[in-house]
Amino acid sequence: MGGMGEMIFFRQVSMTPNYDILPRLVAPLASGEVTRFAPSPSGYLHLGHAFSAMFASHLAAASGGVMRLRIDDIDTTRCREMYFDAIFEDLAFLEIPYAKPVRYQSEHLTASHEALEYLKNQDLIYPCYLSRRELAELLSAPHQPSNTDQLIAADIRHEREAEGNQPAWRLRMATLRDRVGAIEAMDLIHGRVSISLDHIGDEVIARRDIGTSYHLSTVLDDDAMGVTLVSRGYDLFDAIPIQRILQELLGLKPPRYAHHELIPNEHGQRLAKRENALSLRQMRQNGLDRGRILRMMTKCRNFIEKI
Ligand code: GLU
Repeated sequence: MGGMGEMIFFRQVSMTPNYDILPRLVAPLASGEVTRFAPSPSGYLHLGHAFSAMFASHLAAASGGVMRLRIDDIDTTRCREMYFDAIFEDLAFLEIPYAKPVRYQSEHLTASHEALEYLKNQDLIYPCYLSRRELAELLSAPHQPSNTDQLIAADIRHEREAEGNQPAWRLRMATLRDRVGAIEAMDLIHGRVSISLDHIGDEVIARRDIGTSYHLSTVLDDDAMGVTLVSRGYDLFDAIPIQRILQELLGLKPPRYAHHELIPNEHGQRLAKRENALSLRQMRQNGLDRGRILRMMTKCRNFIEKI
């Protein structure tokens, strides 16, 4: 574990032997970090997830803390029962420890609704009744207003309200830019990230179908779980700005981040859930044992052991 100011060097995650870049943990771990592994049960976990879970678990252990497990199951259109089971089986098979209880994101929707109420009262969000298609059409026109609520004629909006249609809720960035100063995030791998609000659009923070969003539920749950270090794959690096904005608006203590490199498939491409080839479930069914799967992440293990 690193002390204050100490640099920790480790190997880049890769399955390709000669791909041997050495990034560094530019900021030290605090003692007793709470990390989390937060898979969505919308597909089988693959080697990349296994790495993420091990990474979070090792960072926690190295700092004398714990990793928690959260099941990101708010998108009911995509979650399947078999994927829930597989998450537990895969983690048990790989002997990746986590602190109980497991948190199910779908059991905490009230917190999202309360947060939305609060943001509504602050006039920081607005309802959007436009469909994706309507929005695309309207936004392709010249002279666009800054808020999408100005794109919809008042009578159509009232009609949709009256019909009981659920709106999506969007951040009112124009107001927010005046109220929120500079925002920063600290990523232990990538360093300080400063976030400019100028290039961020009116992001949807509550979808019309589920009444929340990945970003909103994530910041609320991370906070409720006492997460101090959000470690996850680099594919979610771009989630930092919106999540930091929501933390500021909702008065949540910001965690620090560690976005790790992604494990590529044998063609050097990013692993996807829809590709079954490298799913842990498939590998287990093909008779690969734990040691073999861990060896497929040899480099990951090398660097984890160095932390
Ligand atoms: N549930 C997300 C996923 O499986 C991860 C969320 C997060 O780590 O912030 O991609």
